[in-house]
Amino acid sequence: MRRPSAARVSHFMPSLALLTAGLAVAYMKDLNVFFTSLFNVLPTLVLLLGGAYCGVYKRQRELFLMITVYIAYFLLDTQTDYFRDNGTVREDAAVVFHLCCLLLPMLFGLFAVWEERTHLFQDLIARLAVLAAVGSVALGLEQSFPQALLAWLADIRWPALHGEWMSLIQLSYVAFIIVFAILITQYVRKPRPLHAAQLVGLMGVFWALPKTFILPFTLNIMCSQVMLMIAAAVAHEAYQMAFRDELTGLPGRRALNERMQRLGRNYVLAMGDVDHFKKFNDTYGHDVGDQVLRLVASKLSKITSGGGRAYRYGGEEFAIVFAGKTLEECMPHLDAVREVIANYQIHLRDQQARPQDDLQGRQRRAASQACAVSVTVSIGVAERLPEHRNPEEVLKSADQALYAAKGAGRNCVISSSQTSKRGAVRTSAAS
Ligand code: GH3
Ligand code: MG
Ligand code: MG
Repeated sequence: MRRPSAARVSHFMPSLALLTAGLAVAYMKDLNVFFTSLFNVLPTLVLLLGGAYCGVYKRQRELFLMITVYIAYFLLDTQTDYFRDNGTVREDAAVVFHLCCLLLPMLFGLFAVWEERTHLFQDLIARLAVLAAVGSVALGLEQSFPQALLAWLADIRWPALHGEWMSLIQLSYVAFIIVFAILITQYVRKPRPLHAAQLVGLMGVFWALPKTFILPFTLNIMCSQVMLMIAAAVAHEAYQMAFRDELTGLPGRRALNERMQRLGRNYVLAMGDVDHFKKFNDTYGHDVGDQVLRLVASKLSKITSGGGRAYRYGGEEFAIVFAGKTLEECMPHLDAVREVIANYQIHLRDQQARPQDDLQGRQRRAASQACAVSVTVSIGVAERLPEHRNPEEVLKSADQALYAAKGAGRNCVISSSQTSKRGAVRTSAAS
């Protein structure tokens, strides 16, 4: 049972930072020769590096998004170069510009929602075929009927909706609105960094297109930024896959290992383990077990208020890191979270039969009081002492304290100092 992750501001941050940087640079005046040369090669450089990167990760969807943006950039850049050199636009400038303004959002939207299939080669051929078909039809029409095509593109179909400020053709606005709506829906349904980057990328394209002939290098800068947004999203997702636990959303074991290498001299580590979880799984099923793990993880993640950070260590075990804290400072927070988990009543839902409305939901919840279950956790804690040579030894002490907590009857927090001084002493427990 896979649950989509929640929407997060962090999904948008890299793309928004790139968009802001792009806007700031686009408005810069009197660029020196270094920057003008850089902006001339930047889109090609980004496509080559970003494309190679997507290739390594076998991300064809992102590769084709970049190619689409690059093709539009290339076609329009040829026009702006001519305009800059001759002081006048080329004769096919209008038709090329309008075609790009219509086809870019449409192809961007198509590749943005076209998810990868398992068969990579077929997927690649299908995407190439679409790109080639659209490109050749557009080119054929542009070569054979330039005037008729221009008239069709530039036609004001809805005079009532036309505004003086509109610098794109009406059809282009329609395409952008539809694609924006699709990409917003996609992000809401499946919040992930790539879907956020696609949305912000489309904003960048939407902002840049009307400025093509007005602001020098707008196109070079914004197209590079949009391709970078996509590459950054691939990196972001690769990082998440490696460091975040998919089930609970907590950082995983790798993230813990990395964090443990950066701890200072004073810190406290805790190990938490769900009590009798095997029995719980056997009684209520693996899906309910997963639901409970997510709940425990969400309660443990609140430990940030006490200066801690929770990680999923593996299975039903969690590690908590308190950097720069003492045992005395951590114990109350750990005991509080243990108590919150123990007191939380989990109402088992029938996944197949979701309530149709709020009233039915309330009635069902009332009727399912008897079906409320709860779990407890045992926690072992260890503070870094001079005799500990590395964080792994502290974690081992926390693990030993956890065993002591299990031995002391579970649902309690026990520190390694208690186990070493007095044996397993039950310090705190819910009734
Ligand atoms: P104790 O109180 O001594 O910790 O007993 P326990 O039953 O919790 O311990 P044990 O290590 O024997 O069992 C852990 C169980 O956790 C076994 C496994 O089925 C379950 N488990 C591990 N990972 C997951 C998971 O991702 N989802 C679910 N639903 N169960 C898991
Ligand atoms: Mg265990
Ligand atoms: Mg357990």
